[in-house]
Amino acid sequence: MELLNLHRIVDVTAAEGPGLRCAVWTQGCSVRCPGCFNPQTWTTRGGTAMAWPDLVSRVLAIEGIEGVTLLGGEPFDQAAPLGEFAAAVRAEGLSVMTFTGFRREELPPSKLLESTDLLVDGPFLVDQPEPSRPWVGSANQRFHFLTDRYDESIFTTPNRLELRIAPDGAIELNGFATTEVLEALLEGERR
Ligand code: SF4
Repeated sequence: MELLNLHRIVDVTAAEGPGLRCAVWTQGCSVRCPGCFNPQTWTTRGGTAMAWPDLVSRVLAIEGIEGVTLLGGEPFDQAAPLGEFAAAVRAEGLSVMTFTGFRREELPPSKLLESTDLLVDGPFLVDQPEPSRPWVGSANQRFHFLTDRYDESIFTTPNRLELRIAPDGAIELNGFATTEVLEALLEGERR
């Protein structure tokens, strides 16, 4: 069985798509957009190996989520095992939102694409900042409603930024914010 290589999992977040979701960041990205906010996810080394059925068990044990969000890294670099995962959680009623740095037209048919309700595509372009839509970094990125699970009403969701402070003082952020907002926030933390 091809193992998943994962960068991070947040069991419950309101900052990575519609409603409460489990967010799964993959490790490894072949797209490599200049100005990427997550360059530590580019290498395929250093992630956590996990069999997709184990990830299914973990996600189905989380209470109160409406779906999962798959982010990168580049999820379609691991389309085979992630497709099995996505199909299994959808069969249990969860929705699947998948981000990709590829354009939809570039993606070959896959179980991951078939099992995605909401696809957000396109590379991050640092010179085209997104002015208003939630969750995306640049204006070229497109939302594809591949099933009737979601529609354009999701655009009324405000962008959120979540900050978690671990018992050891480590700070974890997720959600989308401009560099200016992040710097202001971290400056406040240092005070
Ligand atoms: S596809 Fe995503 S993770 Fe990969 S380089 Fe682009 S923004 Fe970064």
